[in-house]
Amino acid sequence: MKIMKFGGTSVGKPERMHQVSQLITRDKEATMVVLSALSGTTNALVEISKSLASTNKKAAVEKVEALEKQYRSFILELLSGEVLRGKANEIITEHFEFLRITQKISLSDALNKDILAQGELMSTKLFSLYLEQEKIDHVLLPALDFMQLDANDEPDLAVIELKLKEILAAYPTKKLFVTQGYICRNAKGEVDNLKRGGSDYTASLIAAAVKASVCEIWTDIDGMHNNDPRVVDKTVAIEQLSFDEAAELAYFGAKILHPTCIWPAQLENIPVKLLNTMQPSAAGTVIKKEAGSVGVKAVAAKDNIIAIKIKSSRMLLAYGFLRKIFEVFEKYKTPIDMITTSEVAVSVTIDTDVHLEEILAELNLIASVEVEKDQTIVSIVGNEIAKTESVLKKLFDAINEVPVTMVSYGGSHHNISLLIPSTYKTKTLQLINKGLFNL
Ligand code: ASP
Ligand code: MG
Repeated sequence: MKIMKFGGTSVGKPERMHQVSQLITRDKEATMVVLSALSGTTNALVEISKSLASTNKKAAVEKVEALEKQYRSFILELLSGEVLRGKANEIITEHFEFLRITQKISLSDALNKDILAQGELMSTKLFSLYLEQEKIDHVLLPALDFMQLDANDEPDLAVIELKLKEILAAYPTKKLFVTQGYICRNAKGEVDNLKRGGSDYTASLIAAAVKASVCEIWTDIDGMHNNDPRVVDKTVAIEQLSFDEAAELAYFGAKILHPTCIWPAQLENIPVKLLNTMQPSAAGTVIKKEAGSVGVKAVAAKDNIIAIKIKSSRMLLAYGFLRKIFEVFEKYKTPIDMITTSEVAVSVTIDTDVHLEEILAELNLIASVEVEKDQTIVSIVGNEIAKTESVLKKLFDAINEVPVTMVSYGGSHHNISLLIPSTYKTKTLQLINKGLFNL
């Protein structure tokens, strides 16, 4: 079986759904199609929830109405017969009735997640009707029947595998399945989700669960690029990346792929392909075990980073100091991205300020602490990059004018990370594009 995941822009217009229907019927292999919500829908649902939370019910009503209008005209364009249009309108009525009811009851965390789930539920049901119109035989599988989180809110791959196996066994002759990305159930049995952008994660988890031959992620760009196309003029698609390289790029800012979606594919050694719905013949990027080549492959940037410099003369010749520091971050469930140390100081970065005040208060008890906000991590990724000749020289020659806050090198074989003030991000990415990629 192969997995094909289509993002919001790939299903966001009726003609795109038509394109998707052609792509999923191109070959004979059994296929599981994972769909996102139509582009803009999840954002709109987030806004509706926010309005409800702020008790601005009127704003929520307006937003629900605007969104509904969009779906009504989508149906008119997508489907032609009265029967199918009628069915589609019934589905949309049902979902929007639910969204209207939410305005009458108080918003809870569980209800919020129910609201966020509406996008994928609607996109898959409409797509299924479109396939019906095109007489393309398929089965619509509710992701809520098998996508399961454990008590730590992590996907429970063993349960997903078991449930999917059971469900698929009921359709031995079917070749095409459609399901929702992003949505799942938590350990309490409530509707939950895999966080924003999580449809990629769904696809990769299903791929691992069914031991798929390939996990294809279809978006609106032809693969992972060497640099951020929104920031620099010229970028090139990367042909091949190892799982480790791709995970670092996704984690450190490449928007095309959700960072969590690498591990399930890596676990079962399933190649992940990044492909372009608008340009299906483009080679895209393949992510697999082998890196394919050595040297610098790409640079990515992650914003909203906070640097914390922790200094203590007590650290001199002492042991156990680092442990004490790490325990503070562990206590507040705050992951550290970058770290550098000297004999009397440690600098770390975090990407969330949710527990910053508490963390600083505790660190202040054992050391003197300085904080720098509005920083950006620029990560240069490539197989064996740390061993690549003169790469550091080239890098620092290129970014000569940029004030660097921190450098991390040698932690992994395929990553050099710099921390810079965010105001220098554009310039840094442009300089690296010239100096390291000759673009
Ligand atoms: N629809 C969800 C979002 O916009 C999940 C996804 O598209 O991956 O975040
Ligand atoms: Mg996405």
